[in-house]
Amino acid sequence: MSNRVHLIHVSIPMIEPFRISSGEVKEKESILIVIERDGITAFGEASPMSGAFYSSETPQSTWDFLVERAIPALIEKKQFRPEFVSEMVETEMSEPFAWAGLEGALWDLMVQVENTTFMDTLGVYPHPIQSGLAVGIYPTIPELVDACKRYLIDGYKRLKIKIQPGWDIEPLKAVREAFGDIPLMVDANAAYTEDHFPVFDEIDKVGLMMIEQPLAKMNWEGLSKLQARISTPICIDESAHDEDAVKCCIDMQACRIVNIKIQRLCGICRAKRIHDLCMDRNIPTWMGTMPELGIASIHALYLALLPNCTYPTDVEASGRWFLEDVISPPIEVTDGLIHIPQEHHKRPNVNMAVIDRHTVRQTRIDY
Ligand SMILES: [Mg+2]
Repeated sequence: MSNRVHLIHVSIPMIEPFRISSGEVKEKESILIVIERDGITAFGEASPMSGAFYSSETPQSTWDFLVERAIPALIEKKQFRPEFVSEMVETEMSEPFAWAGLEGALWDLMVQVENTTFMDTLGVYPHPIQSGLAVGIYPTIPELVDACKRYLIDGYKRLKIKIQPGWDIEPLKAVREAFGDIPLMVDANAAYTEDHFPVFDEIDKVGLMMIEQPLAKMNWEGLSKLQARISTPICIDESAHDEDAVKCCIDMQACRIVNIKIQRLCGICRAKRIHDLCMDRNIPTWMGTMPELGIASIHALYLALLPNCTYPTDVEASGRWFLEDVISPPIEVTDGLIHIPQEHHKRPNVNMAVIDRHTVRQTRIDY
């Protein structure tokens, strides 16, 4: 029986470009990590955006790190369990997407070897998950309102719009006017500085669920000052990159909500730890997305079942962003809710035909 790690780089066209304050992408790229071991095949997904988008990692840097560093280390240590990644990232936090993808594959291997499920291992039960709609930055306000209209038909439980300096109060007011009293929030992706506080005074009057990451990720003091100044809760996202950072933000009252992202946190284990920490500190959480394809999105949905994930997740229907998805069936949203399909209850059910259609390169490392 051949044991090997198979890396597959896929690129799937997006239905519309994804635009935030730092740029735009038209293709969703992912590096799938496939561990073949003793007759079992396990899948993980590392999901960086192309270009420097949310972070400095790219599909190329993720690929290189997996090929040159992470997979050789795994093969050398022969520790084919999620703890391998937990231990490695204690000293080597670089390339969180690569680690998250590899850890996802090790989870998938573990649940198959132990004949258990992701949900049992996490101690959660399937129930409907509230899904929120995220809408990027558009060239004009009417285009933004049209996009919201197009997708709100699926009944999403809240609307999040992306903002940046010069694209904030006006579009926000237009959306409020068009859709009335719906649960609404904004995400600034760290695009503002303390000079912009008067903008947030205005945003504060719109009655939002939360303002996500208004300031730079390490500007905890600024976040704390802003939170003291406005009544809308601040949610950290980019700032929530590790456990110590989250603790400091909570201690400094720099946030009242935390967006948890598996990819940013190097995997499911660390994401779960942030969830537990926030629960202890009475800080509600929700599961964010980069957005990832189906394998990593299903992982996020498993964590969205945890008790402290009380706000809607950013995981949306597969068809919201992607021409097709690498899992079968794809994720669907009905009346704003995601019911994890039976086929994914044990582990994400992968669709190899879709993967084959969108593979741009691959490599196999035998061990
Ligand atoms: Mg965000």
